[in-house]
Amino acid sequence: MELVDSLPQYAAILKHCPDIIRAILSIQADAFDCRVLYATLTTTRCSSCERFGDHLYLIDCRRVCYFCFTRRLEYLPLTIGRASSFFPPDGTRQPSAITSRQRLRAANPPSVMNLPGRYCTALASGGGNLVRKRRQLFDRRAVIQDLEGSGLPKVDRTTREPLRFMAIITAPYLFDAGRQADWGYFCLGCKDEKEETRHFRIKYTREGISEHIARYGPVKETPRIPGRFMHVTPV
Ligand SMILES: [Zn+2]
Ligand SMILES: [Zn+2]
Repeated sequence: MELVDSLPQYAAILKHCPDIIRAILSIQADAFDCRVLYATLTTTRCSSCERFGDHLYLIDCRRVCYFCFTRRLEYLPLTIGRASSFFPPDGTRQPSAITSRQRLRAANPPSVMNLPGRYCTALASGGGNLVRKRRQLFDRRAVIQDLEGSGLPKVDRTTREPLRFMAIITAPYLFDAGRQADWGYFCLGCKDEKEETRHFRIKYTREGISEHIARYGPVKETPRIPGRFMHVTPV
């Protein structure tokens, strides 16, 4: 135990974000190791776009932003029934016939076991959508080669889809050799903004928020409505 605790990367993760270790153990995310987790935490970019990826997708440890994990197909995991449908049985009727599930087990794509609980936004139906079952969830990209072609879901409820939230956790950016953590900032001046480039859900790193303010102007309280902040463009 002492030897493990003395590893600087592990110690940094335990100091700044022990909940990530706890989540990994709870949902049995075993497709990556501590080295990959630390390396991912020392990066900032979402693995699917240019924004700061303020979450981790724990099935295969990828950084991801709110927009990508709620919208992109690759972050919608597959239940065991759906995943095994991509592994057709061998077609024979012998007792030794290999079933879809056996073939899925043999392929062993990255997966997690979800936790029961409430998912999606707390504004919806009494604190989120209640999920009672524990199920194994598979990484879609590892199971389906042609994501946009075959295997499109019938309906994709995006921000209202509990499956999209089950392997997701908020994550800081670790820097200064793991001594400091940047959890990111929301912009108060963009609190009511719905436009894609400055949406209120976008989180910025310390560096990112400075660039954002340089671009849109300093954030000031509006004189007419106290408590409301807006970007003030220099005249
Ligand atoms: Zn993204
Ligand atoms: Zn802003």
